[in-house]
Amino acid sequence: MRLILLGPPGGGKGTIAKKLQKEFNIPVISTGVILREEIERKTRLGKKVQDIMSKGRLVPDEVIIEIARERIKREDCKKGYIFDGFPRNIKQAESLEKLNEELDEYIDYVFYFEIPFTKVIERLANRRVCKKCNTNYNLLFNAPQKDNICDICGGELYQRDDDKEETIKNRLKVFTKQTLLLKKYYQEKNLLTVIDANCSRNALFLEIKKILGGLQK
Ligand code: ADP
Ligand code: ZN
Repeated sequence: MRLILLGPPGGGKGTIAKKLQKEFNIPVISTGVILREEIERKTRLGKKVQDIMSKGRLVPDEVIIEIARERIKREDCKKGYIFDGFPRNIKQAESLEKLNEELDEYIDYVFYFEIPFTKVIERLANRRVCKKCNTNYNLLFNAPQKDNICDICGGELYQRDDDKEETIKNRLKVFTKQTLLLKKYYQEKNLLTVIDANCSRNALFLEIKKILGGLQK
């Protein structure tokens, strides 16, 4: 099963991706997580993208497409995968399609997370992330049991560089200008399912699971 989670930043894609990974035993490919790991490890790529990401702009397509290409060819992706945060514009979507053709595989579902921007801004500003296992928390509705400590692994929580107010605005602009076009793109390919993401994580997960239920035989 191959899935794409599409939607504005802060729409809950990362959280749902992790739940789906557990449920269906297929890996999540989050380009954002991969890039942040590169920054953390201070690699050449990390240094190249750090500034771009902190400003909320998109990392160049070639870089992202190469990351996706390398990743989906790995053994653990044979049974499927969940893309979170990729593709993010038409060029990336077209590249993915070519890559899928080369590998003789296809995307089963694209889920679009529908949620008002006012909600997104509130969520992003209150988001905290575990340094170790990347689990997301929200100080408003999903706070960790102990301040700044991950419930799952005990890792330290931090606020992402791009979750500051100015950068959030820019990310939403980029989303509206580039990523939103993918809604129509996948609709025309009959792959799109729009889901209401302005609800609890559990309700959202159940809705997606119900839709995917028919696939798991
Ligand atoms: P969010 O969905 O909350 O914005 P991500 O972790 O998906 O967070 O992305 C964080 C940043 O990483 C983006 O603002 C962008 O700079 C970079 N990035 C991640 N995925 C892509 C992509 N597919 N194309 C270009 N840049 C990306
Ligand atoms: Zn953790």
